[in-house]
Amino acid sequence: MDIESILQKFMSGDSHLVWSASWDVIKASKQEISEFPLTKISDVRNSVQMLNDESNRDIYQLAVSILDNIEQGICRCNCYPSSQRLLPEEEQERNFISIEKKEDIPWEPEFVCSCIECGKKYFVHESHSYHYPWAEWRNIT
Ligand SMILES: [Zn+2]
Repeated sequence: MDIESILQKFMSGDSHLVWSASWDVIKASKQEISEFPLTKISDVRNSVQMLNDESNRDIYQLAVSILDNIEQGICRCNCYPSSQRLLPEEEQERNFISIEKKEDIPWEPEFVCSCIECGKKYFVHESHSYHYPWAEWRNIT
């Protein structure tokens, strides 16, 4: 993970670059994201707030929430209920959660997952009926 290039993208003020940097943060593994300098997080937050692009606000906001949680020492899973852009199988591949149960309902699979870090459990309803898949996370512990 090239932290310098991610920071440059965040600071560019260009919504395409910020979008790309946001996904870099969202997709980073625990190991990769742990290299993110805490002192830069408030700059990232400010830069994202200045962006005039409402269409991708949820992606920018999710990246900022992930960084906020790291800054405050809060588990990543606390941002799941406020975002619909994290999918359980992708989060499992990134080693943040484990899927305990999957109900393979066509277009609308449902999952029970637990957070590897803190053990919190979530019920997740995923939907593939929109132009991108989204998921609703609900804490069940
Ligand atoms: Zn957790």
